[in-house]
Amino acid sequence: MARRTKIVATLGPATDEPGVLERVIRAGVDVVRLNFSHGEADTHKWRADCVRNLSREMGRHVGILVDLQGPKIRIARFRDDMRVHLVAGTRFDLDTQHPPDQGDDHQVGCHYADLPHDVSPGDVLLLDDGRIVLEVDAIEASRVICRVQIGGVLSSYKGINKQGGGLSAAALTDKDRADIKTAAAIDADFLAVSFPRSADDIKEARVLLRAAGGDAGLVAKIERCEALEPGVIEAIIDASDAIMVARGDLGVEIGDARLPWVQKDLIKMARHRDRAVITATQMMESMILNPMPTRAEVFDVANAVIDGTDAVMLSAETASGSYPDKAVESMHRICLQAETHPVLQHSHHRLDETFDRVDEAIAMAAMYVANHLPVKAIGALTETGYTPLWMSRISSGIPIYALTRHEKTCRKVTLYRGVYPLSFDPGCEIDETRLYRQILDEFVKRDLLKKGDLVVLTRGDIRGIRGSTNAMKIVRTGEQ
Ligand code: PGA
Ligand code: MN
Repeated sequence: MARRTKIVATLGPATDEPGVLERVIRAGVDVVRLNFSHGEADTHKWRADCVRNLSREMGRHVGILVDLQGPKIRIARFRDDMRVHLVAGTRFDLDTQHPPDQGDDHQVGCHYADLPHDVSPGDVLLLDDGRIVLEVDAIEASRVICRVQIGGVLSSYKGINKQGGGLSAAALTDKDRADIKTAAAIDADFLAVSFPRSADDIKEARVLLRAAGGDAGLVAKIERCEALEPGVIEAIIDASDAIMVARGDLGVEIGDARLPWVQKDLIKMARHRDRAVITATQMMESMILNPMPTRAEVFDVANAVIDGTDAVMLSAETASGSYPDKAVESMHRICLQAETHPVLQHSHHRLDETFDRVDEAIAMAAMYVANHLPVKAIGALTETGYTPLWMSRISSGIPIYALTRHEKTCRKVTLYRGVYPLSFDPGCEIDETRLYRQILDEFVKRDLLKKGDLVVLTRGDIRGIRGSTNAMKIVRTGEQ
């Protein structure tokens, strides 16, 4: 059985080493993430080219996700990029007027001019994903005077979050606007918006992307306290094509102990609203340095699969770790094993609902049939990938093949759980029997089915028209 849960891997210096990208893709990566928080646009373009060339050579479809930096608030630089050691109980100041490259062990600059307005005495500031904790003592003009609560080593440009949220710069920075153009030029399949506060941030990114000629799906990274407000989160999900449970920043803002239930709720909400969902950050953190995951990491990946996530993501594990391909291999085998439990193959999804659209109703009907007959595969002839997306919102153990003549659609479905892209062009075949035979021959040729296997196929009467799926057929290979 093929793995249903998809793997997103972040590219970086480690995957730039000769041969590594190829090994990582072979190990099973479905989508690569280009993290625009680091590196130059040219480096990202080069990496995208490498991915497209390699996947073409391997006959694989690999999606590309451009992840915008967003308004992450960061400290400025330390003098000579030194690392300072902060000691609990001592004073350490953040100052928006301090020379940006002259930090030392008493103070450091910060480009976010509103910092002194956005915090008050008693607030807790978390630096470097919460590794360093400061409490605000007082504010004097541009200077935020803090007391170190949890010390440690701090280096240039680390992020600052406020516990409970409230450090809120606009979601799209000037850099993001420029990077959206790069995403369009790269022909990215997904564009992730960092720190959105509302649905409007996603809508704005979509308008900018379309204006630049890009047609990527929008991914909202849920990493702000404000984004979880009732009403806000639903609107953000509806404005997006997928969400990311961005546990790094989110955990800092809402406290790590809240993350497990928030992850479960977000996954459920996204699936219910017909959107895809990526679970991200520190899934295999120890594999940055070790060739094996910890037991806790095994559970974390498996639990995300059990929660129903479409994809699990690797960050530094692949971008800068010592074992990038091993991290992917480990994730692969953990997902595969987690997926075998029968609870993940049954569904009560939408049993009591009515549907708005014919194509959606066909998708649901196909899944109902597939889950109640000994069907070996589902084949959805699709233009946009919507039919397989709807199908994959239903828990099932049966593979869903997205049969499409569009390369872009092949790359879009790489993110959807249980959906596998299959390039297929029926040409101008209009005879129904011959069309079905063509499809079944394709399955057999690719060793996906044997003679006598039962298959559910869906298609539209009018080919090439989006949203026209209106027919379902149950056929047996060798009997058309
Ligand atoms: P990042 O986003 O890796 O870009 O910070 C993910 C997260 O915050 O979890
Ligand atoms: Mn983040």
